[in-house]
Parts: sequence; C-alpha cells; structure tokens
Amino acid sequence: MMAQYLALKAQAGGCLLFYRMGDFFELFFDDARVAAQVLDIALTSRGEHDGTPIPMCGVPVHSAESYLARLIRAGQRVAIAEQVETPQEARKRGGSKALVARDIVRFVTAGTLTEEALLEPRRANLLAAVCEVRGRCGVASIDVSTGAMVLEECAPPDVAAALARLAPTEVVVPEEWPDAPPGCFPRPRVDFASDGGDDRLRKAHGVATLDGFGTFTRPMLAAAGGLVAYLEHAGRGTLPLLLPPVARDSGGSLAMDAATRASLEITESAHGGRAGSLLAAVDRCSTGAGARLLADDLAAPLTDKAAIEARQSLVGWLHDDALLRSDLRTALRALPDIARALGRLVAGRGSPRDLGQLRDGLTDARRIRDHLARQDDRPEALQALLPDLGGHGALTDLLSRALVPAPPTERGQGGYIAEGYDAGLDDLRRTSGSARRAIAALEAKYRADTGVAALKIRHNGVLGYFIEVPARHADALMAPDSGFTHRQTMAGAVRFNSLVLHEEASRIAEAGGHALAAEEAHFEELVAEACAAREAIARTAAALARIDVAASHAERAAEGRWARPAILEQPSLRIEAGRHPVVEEALAPRGERFVANDCALDPDDRLWLIGGPNMGGKSTFLRQNALIVILAQAGAFVPAARAEVGLCDRLFSRVGASDNLARGQSTFMVEMVETAAILSQATPRSFVILDEVGRGTSTYDGLALAWAVAEAVHETNRCRCLFATHYHELARLAETCDALSLHHVRAREWKGDLVLLHELAQGPADRSYGLSVARLAGVPQPVIARARAVLAKLEKGRAETGGLAAGLGDLPLFAAAAQVEEEQCDALRDRLRAIDIDALSPREALDTLYELRREV
Ligand code: ADP
Repeated sequence: MMAQYLALKAQAGGCLLFYRMGDFFELFFDDARVAAQVLDIALTSRGEHDGTPIPMCGVPVHSAESYLARLIRAGQRVAIAEQVETPQEARKRGGSKALVARDIVRFVTAGTLTEEALLEPRRANLLAAVCEVRGRCGVASIDVSTGAMVLEECAPPDVAAALARLAPTEVVVPEEWPDAPPGCFPRPRVDFASDGGDDRLRKAHGVATLDGFGTFTRPMLAAAGGLVAYLEHAGRGTLPLLLPPVARDSGGSLAMDAATRASLEITESAHGGRAGSLLAAVDRCSTGAGARLLADDLAAPLTDKAAIEARQSLVGWLHDDALLRSDLRTALRALPDIARALGRLVAGRGSPRDLGQLRDGLTDARRIRDHLARQDDRPEALQALLPDLGGHGALTDLLSRALVPAPPTERGQGGYIAEGYDAGLDDLRRTSGSARRAIAALEAKYRADTGVAALKIRHNGVLGYFIEVPARHADALMAPDSGFTHRQTMAGAVRFNSLVLHEEASRIAEAGGHALAAEEAHFEELVAEACAAREAIARTAAALARIDVAASHAERAAEGRWARPAILEQPSLRIEAGRHPVVEEALAPRGERFVANDCALDPDDRLWLIGGPNMGGKSTFLRQNALIVILAQAGAFVPAARAEVGLCDRLFSRVGASDNLARGQSTFMVEMVETAAILSQATPRSFVILDEVGRGTSTYDGLALAWAVAEAVHETNRCRCLFATHYHELARLAETCDALSLHHVRAREWKGDLVLLHELAQGPADRSYGLSVARLAGVPQPVIARARAVLAKLEKGRAETGGLAAGLGDLPLFAAAAQVEEEQCDALRDRLRAIDIDALSPREALDTLYELRREV
C-alpha cells in the first residue's frame, strides 16, 4: 500500500494527497501534519516507514467538502486519489491479498472550484495564467465556475496592474518566471506556447479557427495555452465549461495600478474583505451573478463614451420607474445561479438540482423578457439584451416535463425524473409500489395468522426485508411447517424470512435497480441537451446579470439621491455637492451628517492644492472624487447633486503611505516608487489624487519634493490633480503655476475647541491647527502647553529668517530649470558620442574622463 501511496504522491506534484480508504480520505507524512494543523483534527500514526511511525490523519468522505474548503482557503492544493475498482474486482484480478487500484481523479485548487459549497455566491473565482512572448506579456483568466474566459496583452511592467484588477485566487506561470508573486504555481514551459494555445482553444470549441471569436495575439494565445493545459491537468483530462475567449483591449478600460486600487478600496477594504469597500457601498444586486459582474465593472471602468452612456440609459430608465424596478428586482431575487449550475453540469459535477435550476432560471428569464418587452420607451441597451433572455423554449419544456418540481442534489436515490415522462420508468415504479403495498398487506396477514400483534416487517441494508417478532413470541414462527425461516436472533427479537416476502422484496429490488438505471440514463441525456445549449445559456445568464447591475445602480441612486453624470470628452471634472459613499454610510449610524463638497477641475484650473488641518476631510474629498470618476465610467450614477466627468484614461491615487508598512519597504520608499509611477505615466487625460507627498521624510526634503512634484504635475503631466498637503509654503506655487489654485478644508476655533467643518473653501489655509488636533485627540495638557512654547520659538525664528521657503521665489520656473538641465545633457551626450575610444591611449582616456567629470 505504501508503494502505491508514494507513487500517487509523486504524481500529486506538491499537492496534499487525499488517499481514499473505505469511507475516509487519509493523509500521510507531512501532508498529515499540514492538514491536521489547518483542520484542527487529530494527528495519529499508522504502521511504520523506514522504522519510524507514519503520521496520519483522515477525514470522512461524506463531509470531505467542508474540509477541502478549509484547506483551499488556507492556500493548499489537494489531489484526490479514489479507488477506481471494487475490492471484488481487485480480488478477481490479483487474488485475495490484491490491493484495490487507486488513481488521482482530480486536483482541487482555489482557481478550479465549481462546487457551490466551496464558492462565494457574490464573488467571481478567477484562475489566471501569465507568460511572456518576445517582450510582451499575455494574461489569460477564466472563472471556472461559469466558463467566462478573457485574454489580454500588456507590457511586462503592467502585469502587476492587470493581476491587481483581476484579483485571481490562483495564478499559473511558466517555470522560472522571474519575480513570480507568492502563491504562483509554476507549470511546464511547453504548456505556454502560442501555437499550442491556439490548438487547445480550437479543440475545446470544435472550430477550425479562432477568428470568429476575435483577434488574439501570440502572447494572449500562449497564456491561454498555459491556462487550458493547467485545467486539463487539474481535471485529469476533463475540461470544465469554456466559453469562447474574449480579447480584452488594454485601452478599453480606465487604467489603475495595484497601489491605486488598494488605496481607493474599490472591491476590497484596507482591512481585507468586502465590507468598507466601494463595492459594498453600491452593491444592491439581487443575484450573485449580478454582484460578480458589478465587481468586474468597478475593477475595470470603461473609457468609451458611447458604451458608458448605453449602460447609463438602462440605469436611468430603471431609476425613473420605481414600480418596474421593484417588480424586476423581486423577479431577479428568485433566480437561481444558472451560470454556475451550467458550469457544474459541463464539468461533470452537476446534479439533478442543477438541471432544475436551469429549468427555473431559463423559464424566469423568459418571463422577465416578456415583462420588460411590454414597457414603453425601452432604451436601446435593453433592446440589445432582450433577445438573449429567451430562446430556450425547447429546453425548458423538456426539463419541465422530465424533472420533479424540486430535484435533489444526490442522484443515488433516484426520484428526480417526473412521473409521466417515461412510461417504462412509471411501470417500474408501479411495480415496486405494488410490491411495497403487498408487503404491507403481508404484515397484516402474518399478524392475523400468527396472532402476534407485535409482528413487523422491516428493512435494513444488510438483510433487506425481514419479519421481526419479540423473542417471547418467536416459538410460534419457529415451527418447521410455519412457512417462516429463521434468519437472526437478537437480544430481544428474532428475525425471519418467508418465501412470499422474499419474492416481493426481489420485485422491489429489481424494479428499483432498473428504475435507477433508467433515471441515470435520462439524467445523462438531459445534461447533454443542456450542454449543447451552453453558449446560449451563458448569454442569458450574462444578460440577466447586466440587467441586475443596472437595477442595482438605479436602486442605489434612488436610495441616496445620486445623479446621472454627464460624460464629456474634454478633460474636466465638475462635481456639485459630491459625497464619499463609504464615509457617508459610516457616519449615518452615528447620526453625523456628511458635508457635501464641490470640485471643479478644468484645463485652465486643473491642479487644486488643498490645505487645512489634519482630520479636516482632505483625504475624504480626494478619494470621493476618484470614486465618482470610477462610478461614472462604470456606467453608474454618482453620489452628487450634479456631475460632469471628462473621460479619464488613467486614475492614480497616492494616499497615506503609512498603511503600506506591511509590504516590507520603508514608507518613504513606497511613497516615492508610487510617485515616480505617476510622474512617468499620467497624461493630460488622467486624473491623479496626491495626499501629503513628502510626509515620509524630513521637513526640508519633504517640502522640496512636494514642491517639485506639484510643479512637474502642472507643467509636464498636465493632468487633472487634487493635491492635499500640510505645507503652507506650497501656496506660493500659485504665483507661477497658472492652472493651479488654492483651496482648504475649513476649521474654526470655538471657545478654545477646534471645530472641523469638513467644508472645502477657496484660498490657502490660514494655519494648520496641529496643536488643536492633538488636543482633540487627547494628548495630555502639559505636552500641548510645552508644544505651544516650542512653536512660539520656531515661529519667531521663522519670522526672522524668512521661513522654510525663504528664497524659493528666486528659483527659475520648473520648465526653465528643466530646459537648462536638458541642454547640459545634450551637450554631454554629443561629446561622448564624438570620442573615438579605440584611438585613445590609456593616458588620454583618463584625461578625458577627468575633463568630462569637471563638466557635470
Ligand atoms: P484629512 O485627510 O484632512 O486628515 P480625512 O479626510 O481623513 O481628513 O477625514 C477625517 C475624518 O473626518 C473622516 O474619517 C470622517 O469621519 C470625517 N469627514 C471627512 N470628510 C467629511 C465630510 N465631508 N463630512 C463629514 N465628515 C467628514
């Protein structure tokens, strides 16, 4: 057995091996140690290997799913080794001592789950594959539970941003992939070949060419190859549902890097998890599929005005008709998750209940279509979706006739095929029904015949049907001519058989076996019918999800009096009475009111410098405008009284480096890396929020950097930017930067207390109120008093020397400074090119070096 185990373990390739033994899955050696710890189950031992006891633990097969779920959540992968023959077959093959053959039938990994119990209904579960072909990267992703596959291409540095957007639960990469993020699973390089990917996809979809699905580049196909090869490996040859791949254009969505996503808490809050995220604050979806699509939309807002407006029109239509919206949402709430039911059926792990879900879901989809089609003024975006909701008449009719109203999740007991669907099956059921009745009649007859009122006919798994009487009445049945044969004597009872009972029991068993086989055959046919319509069913599911998302946005907008933003091509951002959806929601239970604020960025006033006290609401204002851009470009309404959003190509947020300590870089380093990314990538169509740049270093360094960054954003990037800072000195930038304006969050001191108004106003901040905030935070009075004294001294010194920013007025303008620098570089470059290195003697070479150095 150990030899068999070790051979399977070698095939499991780093996964925990679940080794089937009877009613248990057993784990041995290190696997047992890991599993016992994660699952908090007893670690025992069994036998010896090389003279030491073998650690072992096990989980019952019938509850294996919940243990698997916990292992997967803890980041493990599991290989399932099943018995692939019965003990009888093993004996026939190899004699009485033969070992039952076992094989790995499946790998269970985070990215390849389809089981309802292991998945979160409102969250997509993505598997991604990444690889590089000649300097370009391909990223392939699939939600195995629904089969939706997306292929994209990007430059190598953008892979991290793509993965941050997708947030896959598992990533596969070719072996020796440089700086693979933790948790990546290396797979053989050969799997990631573009022609192999092309082959695999064509084979999976039974087409001669992928041209009908779109245009796919070589990196995309190579990544797809790695992805499908991994799925084949994980399913041991059976592929899950694969829908035709969709090529994703990298310019098609608002670009955001990982740091921006994290700081804006779009789909996940800083503490991890959905609560506290933008997604949680806007999600009013009625279905799991809708919630998954909404998360997708927010992670990748659109950049195409027409596409955004199409989504808006549907939201607007549902927003304006509260009754229609409410009816629609009620209908949607009752919908089963047909996309995932289909996924399980195609993967060969479906149940009669999944077929029932398809029947109900597709029937409801048609009803929803009919209801929507009766409404007036339907927007075009809806017209495009309606046809996808119908067209399953034949399949739903078939499933309605074939299935009982609530089919079970288990096939073993049968009973899911409806009466009247198959006359033969009905006959078999009648036979076993009549035999059952005959047995009931027999019980009454035997009681009368024997005079034993306590006589019972019972059934168990070992004996089948038998007659049981209390021990003290057994004699009556023991007589040789009684017609009863003795079977078993128990403590208080004796069990018998009779010829008639045996015959009836055989009728039941035979009819039952045939009936089960008949149901099984029908199940296979029905699954095949459903799978044949897989793409149309997936389209219906997608259309329902799209309608659900629109209804969710409409509901949220009605709830919070949100507005439909106008989408403009020119780079402006005008928000009237904007609010932060998450902060506002957090304030409400405390009875606090959120103060709405305006934002008005335009090409000639595109950089707002925002000062004011800590806790005054600067970060909140910055973020709320970024979130409004995301919502607007995702096609939603926004938390504002009015909004005009000029399309953004990229969104950057650099907020509060203090949260990033966990990543193991110094906060200042992180801040500068992120700032560098913004300065090198932001375009005039981008929107950038910068919070307290330079806070992580000394006052002088910090001010100098903040100053230079603000100038560069203004002069070079020329993007829309909100820049929060506590350096008053930066206000002087307004003198030289004409598209920069000064703003502050208001605060007032009242009877010695600081009152933060959270209200944005024009003009520079008058003072920083740092000591008042410290007092508000409970810093002890003596410390505050001491700080006041120190401050007075510092301010006196500042007045005498002209302050921190003394002399900054003499600096040449940023553009001029850059120009001078550039000219010097050009001159140096020309001189370097002019040197004929081969013609120089070592002495001359050294002289030249000295000369060059004097010039820089
Ligand atoms: P700053 O960046 O200026 O230090 P924050 O934006 O972090 O300030 O805001 C601090 C707190 O003030 C927030 O957590 C929130 O509770 C409250 N706050 C911020 N903006 C508003 C607002 N517009 N209306 C009401 N409360 C607000």
